[in-house]
Amino acid sequence: MNQQADEISLDPADWEELRSELHRAADMMTDYLRDVRHRGVWKPLPAETRARLATPAPEQGIGLQGALSDFQRDILPYPTGNIHPRFWSWVTGCGTATGLVSELLAAGMNNLSIGLDDSSPVQVELQVLNWFKDLFGFPRDASGLLVSGGSMANMVGIVVGRTARAGYDVRAEGLNPHGQPRLMVYASAETHSSVEKSVEVLGFGRPSLRLIPVTAGFEIDVPKLKKQIQADVDAGHRPCILIGNAGTVNTGACDPLDELADIAAAHGMWFHVDGAFGAMAALTNLQIPNLRGLKRADSLAFDLHKWLYQQYSAGCVLVKNSTAHHASFEVNPIYLDLLGSGLAAGPVNFNALGVQLSRSFMALRLWLSFKTHGVEKFRRLIAQNIHQARYLHDAVDASKSLENLTQVALNIVCYRCNPGGLSESELEDLNRRLLITLQERGIAAPSSTRIHGRFAIRVAIVNHRSRREDFEMLVRESESIGKELVRQRQRVG
Ligand SMILES: *Cc1c(COP(=O)(O)O)cnc(C)c1O
Repeated sequence: MNQQADEISLDPADWEELRSELHRAADMMTDYLRDVRHRGVWKPLPAETRARLATPAPEQGIGLQGALSDFQRDILPYPTGNIHPRFWSWVTGCGTATGLVSELLAAGMNNLSIGLDDSSPVQVELQVLNWFKDLFGFPRDASGLLVSGGSMANMVGIVVGRTARAGYDVRAEGLNPHGQPRLMVYASAETHSSVEKSVEVLGFGRPSLRLIPVTAGFEIDVPKLKKQIQADVDAGHRPCILIGNAGTVNTGACDPLDELADIAAAHGMWFHVDGAFGAMAALTNLQIPNLRGLKRADSLAFDLHKWLYQQYSAGCVLVKNSTAHHASFEVNPIYLDLLGSGLAAGPVNFNALGVQLSRSFMALRLWLSFKTHGVEKFRRLIAQNIHQARYLHDAVDASKSLENLTQVALNIVCYRCNPGGLSESELEDLNRRLLITLQERGIAAPSSTRIHGRFAIRVAIVNHRSRREDFEMLVRESESIGKELVRQRQRVG
């Protein structure tokens, strides 16, 4: 078949050139991953790089080779740093080396993963969802969906809870139609902001969200929760959704999920669990008591790109009652009809289970990763991260100038430098500068939070590359930079 002279496409004129550029890119990224430990964790972008990254779109291309060289010069040296073994900011996964391969394969197939089609990627997603159901103790007839991340997974769970437990037809009537009670959502004050965002976006209205105070261990205060529910019932509102945390973002605290499941059941509420990263602790043999009720969740949200170490971005939501899941999102546009056989035979319509229609072939990452390494490897890695957090906590305890600001619930340590004789505001200033110095010198990248109002250096470990020596280095450097900053102050003061 011949191409007309005026017909163009984005395919290469010379496939051998593509092959060699692909090999060059593969070599570049293999070296990049292999040598990550020998680079700094992070460095700021130089001004000329910033300027080049702010130029307008080129009308004429420079070819793949040229574009790759620009990538190598302006982009590759200045990442967030989260693939580094000493990156512990926020809750940030580091990806895997096999992920390089699955991204290449997925890009080659470029599947749209809407589920209407009788194709292997649909079966792979269904298989991966079944693996998760088995791992988290959900029944095989539960439904599920891969989504962009924990935020979207939480939203899907909250939508299903709203539809299933409103007591009227929310989809037909909208929220809080006249004469109906206000629908209430309960979660602890330590709950991730994505829940607040969902509640607002879904139109509950901010007064529908009750953020319940927490205990000294940052778990939801159950007596206060019960009291609030009763007060709301007395006021004529309807308790609709209860959200439990398996691992809060600040400190990794886990709410007592078994107890919450009982409370939800007693009030006819939907029980959603945000297990963005913490759900993974249930895959270990560590028997975290508060996670025992995880499998009692009506819906469970978790990320693949955090504590399952997968490449960005992917999260998952499991919903025990598949009918309720479908009833919340199902729409049947004529152009998405299932035809029973042929291409659109469709074992499932993923669009009827969430917000997104087209999605990338996220399932392949996890599929290739579990096939390559086996689940047992992941169980051990997750446990390793928990042991590392305990190790770091003990090392901080043993230090003369550092102190812990929390206990370790899972994989997060919050500490600060406190050499003695400084006021709270001086300590805040010292620890801010200590954290920024750790980052700017490329030593390590913890992030910050506040524990009871105190500025804390926060280390969240969802990193399969971290080693014990990395935490020893963090303690050593925190002590010595702390000392250095105090000396500087004294000289200035
Ligand atoms: C990260 C996180 C989220 C949001 O997940 P994304 O993947 O970033 O959208 C929700 N809840 C908790 C507890 C988290 O740590």
